[in-house]
Amino acid sequence: MSARTGRAAGATTRRRVRARVEGTVQGVGFRPFVYRLAGELGLDGAVWNDARGAVVELEGDGPTVEAFLERLPREAPALASVERLVREEVRPTGERGFTIVASAAGGEPSAAVSPDAATCEDCLTELRDPHDRRFRYPFVNCTNCGPRFTIVRGVPYDRPLTTMAGFAMCARCQAEYEDPADRRFHAQPNACPECGPQAWLADSHGRRLDTGSHGDAVEAAAHAVRDGLIVAVKGVGGFHLACRADDEGAVAALRSRKHREDKPFALMVSNLEGARALVALEAEEEALLLGRERPIVLAPRFAGAQVAPSVAPRATELGVMLPYSPLHHVLMEDFARATAAAGDDGPPALVMTSGNASDEPIAYGDEDALARLASIADRFLLHDRPIHTRTDDSVVRVAEAGSARRPLVLRRSRGHVPGSVELPRAAVRPLLACGAELKSTFCVAKGTHAWVSHHVGDLKNYETLVSFREGVEHFERLFAVAPEVVAHDLHPDYLSTSYALEREGVDHVAVQHHHAHLAACLAEHGELGPAVGAIYDGTGYGPDGTVWGGELLVGDLAGFERAGHIHPVRMPGGDRAVREPWRMACAWLVEAYGPEPPLPAALAPWVEPDRWETIAELARTGFASPTTTSAGRLFDAVAALCGLSPIVNYEGQAAIELEAAADPTERGSYPLPLDERPGEPSVLDARETVRAVVDDLAREVPVTIVSARFHNGVAEATARACAVVASRSATETVVLSGGVFQNRLLLERTAAALTAAGLRVLGPERLPPNDGGISYGQAAVAVMRDVGR
Ligand SMILES: [Zn+2]
Ligand SMILES: [Zn+2]
Repeated sequence: MSARTGRAAGATTRRRVRARVEGTVQGVGFRPFVYRLAGELGLDGAVWNDARGAVVELEGDGPTVEAFLERLPREAPALASVERLVREEVRPTGERGFTIVASAAGGEPSAAVSPDAATCEDCLTELRDPHDRRFRYPFVNCTNCGPRFTIVRGVPYDRPLTTMAGFAMCARCQAEYEDPADRRFHAQPNACPECGPQAWLADSHGRRLDTGSHGDAVEAAAHAVRDGLIVAVKGVGGFHLACRADDEGAVAALRSRKHREDKPFALMVSNLEGARALVALEAEEEALLLGRERPIVLAPRFAGAQVAPSVAPRATELGVMLPYSPLHHVLMEDFARATAAAGDDGPPALVMTSGNASDEPIAYGDEDALARLASIADRFLLHDRPIHTRTDDSVVRVAEAGSARRPLVLRRSRGHVPGSVELPRAAVRPLLACGAELKSTFCVAKGTHAWVSHHVGDLKNYETLVSFREGVEHFERLFAVAPEVVAHDLHPDYLSTSYALEREGVDHVAVQHHHAHLAACLAEHGELGPAVGAIYDGTGYGPDGTVWGGELLVGDLAGFERAGHIHPVRMPGGDRAVREPWRMACAWLVEAYGPEPPLPAALAPWVEPDRWETIAELARTGFASPTTTSAGRLFDAVAALCGLSPIVNYEGQAAIELEAAADPTERGSYPLPLDERPGEPSVLDARETVRAVVDDLAREVPVTIVSARFHNGVAEATARACAVVASRSATETVVLSGGVFQNRLLLERTAAALTAAGLRVLGPERLPPNDGGISYGQAAVAVMRDVGR
């Protein structure tokens, strides 16, 4: 490099700076990037990894060193994230050239493992190039893309501690791996058809099929789905079940074999064009679809979308994703070719739903998948790269809360995990937060870093509980967190609480459920509070032993007061009332009209009169029927009164169908008065709302209008109530969270009303408003309590 030799050696201004870089800087091509940038600027020095991240030493003239440090965080590779850069001057050594120093073993491992990333453009080019040695290779990857978290077994992040350990690199792959100038320098999952994982097709008994006449395994799988078969596809974080999205026979068969009655199936399309043919997309949705996290994006479906009715019965939205692994890309391209050859028109779309039956966790091990999915799938597209951690697809929607359209993450998992989420205050001691129970996640934290786990699922399922325990141990090792504080929900019966209390030699911090929702939202925005929180969800344990869920709180990260709640009602028969929303309709009618409400016409086809009377009796006496202020149960009751899903077969179904039914152009609203009580929490008196619903239904006002007026009424009343609480509490910030705020219509209307009232709205963006965000909220609360100890 002539520019370098041309500089005057021993120039008087020569400096040497040591920069410590923290964040996601290992396994993401960071050192080759530093090497290239130093070369470009003609700087001397070295870069190496250590347990906390990367260290760069730079020697050269002052302005060039400054230019380097300024460009470093801005131009870092796609998967890297520079969170902290600390520099110090050191004595120049006069060394010439720039070197990448090999990793030293040992030390405390805390350098972040990065999330799995969608196949990059460079790898896609190779995948599609018939002259490339990785043409059609379903496992092509590089430092900018490929599997990470799902294949990591331990730290340091190096091939022997990934599920690639069993594959020895061939000479050509090894040369790429060792060349600092190569895109695959230190790409741990680096592989090619000669030395890496292979895919094959099997029948429903797991017997390997000869695909000779159909090309390779992926092409044969594409032909199988084209012909209407259901194929279990081993992906990045687990198995999918795939079938043609436009084939009602195939989709209906999948539903019946999976025992999944109504819950919508997600779709995979080849590209953005394919997505645009099915759903209405704005810039934000398109950016999410194309992002390296590649989530399932929920968006309004077009009336003419070419999907079978059974894909998403009665839903106004479809969940769509783009291919995110090379195997998906090849499969979708082969499927497109196969359908085009058969003369089918329309953009190709596959149902890509999680590989499980009904409520089980998604299968991710080969043996387990073959055992559990044999009665569902006609074919298995398998491969021999093991998945270490089961990681579901992430799910996201876009909503306008406050002034902009922002992502609303409904499930934060593959592609996001284990990226850290910062805490607004540094933890004094390392901690673990155990989360809730149904949409369970956990979180480990150290300093200002919190690592929230993948979506673990319902802990009442034994297999899920086992993976929760294993997951906690895995995260504690990956991030070198030895918890001294363990946070948990106040609910004594949550299995996550039992787990927390089993941990000995630690301090336990119990965090109220809705306070955790409030804290999670504040903390992800870097705020300490105070704020008003309208926290609406299904259930959460209240300090008074009742079931909370329609709460107006005022508080900060350390503590809260209950400023108001929805009028309490009974949940007749306890948890049965969650699965049978008609019971909540009955309980609300008892509250609104008195002890013996007549059976509403819309429920007559579903409920025997005797049964109705029995449930009314439970609601009246409270026998086996806990008291609740749940907003989720109020939505259930109104949905049932409208005749929508009096009995549900998946969580949140009634509220989802009620939202889907609403006419967005309707501006009318039902009353929901705030009953202020000195010295006590105020009460949102939803009895009036229920009476208005019943009156309109009696007048045969369409359900589309009733639903819209109900949403508008709750939104306006919530905003008014928040304004009252805010004016008393010297804050102008309102947090909207809890699972009920996954409802876009409710969220947008409430946020708009709050903004119009001059209040500032905060909503969850990086973490879900549902219980998937609870563990992070618990961590934020535990940190503040520990600081104040
Ligand atoms: Zn790549
Ligand atoms: Zn190779």
